[in-house]
Amino acid sequence: MSEQSRIGNLAVFTSGGDAPGMNAAVRAVVRTARSRDVGVYAVYEGYLGLVEGGPAIQPLSTDEVGGILHQGGSVIGSARSEEFRTREGRRKAARNLLERDIDALVVIGGDGSLTGADLFRREWPELVAELVAGGEISEALAAAHPVLRLVGLVGSIDNDMFGTDMTIGTDTALHRITEAVDAIHSTAASHQRAFVIEVMGRNCGYLALMSALATGANWTLIPESPPRDDDWAERMCTALRAGREIGRRQTMVIVAEGAQDRHGNPITSHDVQQILEEELGEDCRVTILGHVQRGGAPSAFDRYLGTALGHAAVGRLLDGDADEEARLVGIREHEIVSSPLMAMVEKTKSVADRIAEHDYDEAMRLRGGSFAESLHRFRTLTQSHPSEPRPDVQRRRFAVLHAGGPAPGMNTAVRAAVRLGLDEGHDIVGVRRGFRGLRDGALEPMDWMTISGWTSRGGAELGISRYIPDERGIATIAERLREHEIEGILMVGGLTGYRAAHALHRAREHHPELRIPIACMPTSINNDLPGSELSVGADTALNSIINDVDKIKQSAVASRRCFVVEVMGNECGYLAMMSGLAAGAERVYLPEDGIALSDLVEDVGDLITAFRHGKRLGLIIRSEHADPLYTTGFLHALFEKEGGDLFDVREAILGHVQQGGDPSPFDRILATRMAASCMEFLDGQARRSGPSSAFIGLEGGQLHFTSLSTLPELLDVEAARPAHQPWLALRELADVMANRVEVKAG
Ligand code: ADP
Repeated sequence: MSEQSRIGNLAVFTSGGDAPGMNAAVRAVVRTARSRDVGVYAVYEGYLGLVEGGPAIQPLSTDEVGGILHQGGSVIGSARSEEFRTREGRRKAARNLLERDIDALVVIGGDGSLTGADLFRREWPELVAELVAGGEISEALAAAHPVLRLVGLVGSIDNDMFGTDMTIGTDTALHRITEAVDAIHSTAASHQRAFVIEVMGRNCGYLALMSALATGANWTLIPESPPRDDDWAERMCTALRAGREIGRRQTMVIVAEGAQDRHGNPITSHDVQQILEEELGEDCRVTILGHVQRGGAPSAFDRYLGTALGHAAVGRLLDGDADEEARLVGIREHEIVSSPLMAMVEKTKSVADRIAEHDYDEAMRLRGGSFAESLHRFRTLTQSHPSEPRPDVQRRRFAVLHAGGPAPGMNTAVRAAVRLGLDEGHDIVGVRRGFRGLRDGALEPMDWMTISGWTSRGGAELGISRYIPDERGIATIAERLREHEIEGILMVGGLTGYRAAHALHRAREHHPELRIPIACMPTSINNDLPGSELSVGADTALNSIINDVDKIKQSAVASRRCFVVEVMGNECGYLAMMSGLAAGAERVYLPEDGIALSDLVEDVGDLITAFRHGKRLGLIIRSEHADPLYTTGFLHALFEKEGGDLFDVREAILGHVQQGGDPSPFDRILATRMAASCMEFLDGQARRSGPSSAFIGLEGGQLHFTSLSTLPELLDVEAARPAHQPWLALRELADVMANRVEVKAG
């Protein structure tokens, strides 16, 4: 790197509307910058502080950003500033930065904040020249900072920006909405009431659509896709009336705040209330969720997202060209990527423009394929009856069952599979207690309302077993499949289920009844299944872990204490790694790495150093099978003894709470998507003379199928986990966030 392109100091600030997860990003920016020996400042109160300078711009150390990961909002404050919109305001801002040798910015905000930042970056050389001409700064200082480097991160609960599949805060907002709608659901059902729930989103229906999908709401109105016809109110009422007639105890409509009709006239939640009261004669209540959606502790995903994006933003500033255009760092198809910032802002604005021009088809097209697909699925799932059978579709009979350990999201998957299967004109049979139930003939037909309310329910209503059939079992299962005329199986479960499915698939040479497609769908809190970056249930477990760890940490306010927390995961360290990142652990022990005595000696040394330097709270996360002998109890004893009077140690084994609870919004959405694709797979394969069997997975953000025959190759059989685990690449990020890099650097 040439001397000229050397970066000075870096500053980070949050601007515009606050969003949960912003603190994770600030923490990551500070720790990454420090690990690379770059000075880093926080600008308090966004552009207001940038213009004011003085105490509003302060250096931050790695320790000072400890203890903020779990906090909602932005600890460095976020504000709007009219003065920054003026050139004079921006000149002051430039001077404030130059006085501190700052020439690189990470801005975390919405499109307004990012637009303002880009203007500032483009004007920088002129502003610097003006400051020199006015004698406000020296020529040498100006020469040392000829350009301003800029990276933007999107903090916004609306998920309305291009350049990132998720914005920081969206997942948490979905948690808040889902919790509220689930709660309203139970009161609405008790009184057989109708509820209209208004969620945020002026130009973007993401929160409304995804929360409707996740909660099993009955209708949704979003800005990008207004009702097709002017008689929409009548059609909505007809559909909702039909729902009542089949026995729904509540009516739930989710309205985005920017909902409108085809002519651009707003449809407010009160309009919908009036319609429901007049047309349906129902007692109807409105709940406007408002700022509740922005509040509260960030979800596990937002903590991870903020962390990963903050880390990548600093990498981009330090490693990119000095005079490159401003970049937006985001997550796309599960990868951290960067794009030209202003191009993304323009594209984002174009959706709002299309909506304003009533060009809704184009607005939907710009939102991308999976948004339209989700809307289509939502509409099918919320019907009161399956569609009329199509003459070209052959009616088939598919079975659905679970195997393995319980995972939140299993019921959601079954609901989606049953409704989407019935809607295609097929018969769906539920199998009780997994492959054992299949062997014993515990099959029952599922109808449209059997699975009503299952979207949000934890556990597994169909029951589960860990049974893997032997030769005799396989022969009996083949017999049962013939008896019940089953033409395909959807297995929603974990590794045991994959193994059982594989055993049946292999035996198809000997049993013609087994020459049917089997689709396996990964549900396991451990995320230990091949062919998928994520399994359904892991996100819920992670959120459960971090909620517990937040509480455990709070119990230690008065003393110097280190917690050793044991999490589940079986032979896979995913939960430990991700909860370590999301809860801010000093050290994570994984089964993939084991625990060596030399690690322990080093870790004890690091802990002692940290507590000597004023650390008050330590967190160590140990995956349950990290090492057979260095148990959680052993670690507790070791740290307790070596910590002496410096700190005390407590252990917490979180146990089965991690497998329970209602599924998180992400798990519900993923379960629905995966189940829908599996049903399409079964339908497609059942038409073929030599049908394939496969497991579905999420790779690079896309769903795809891998042949079941390849299962043995994709598994590390001895270790009982996938041979390839992409999340292991997060070790480096975990080290930087735990200050291990800085500690080692001296
Ligand atoms: P958001 O970032 O959430 O979209 P705003 O649009 O309110 O929030 O913008 C936040 C702040 O960013 C504004 O108060 C202003 O200081 C700055 N800003 C926004 N747009 C511009 C602009 N075009 N030029 C200069 N500054 C801007």
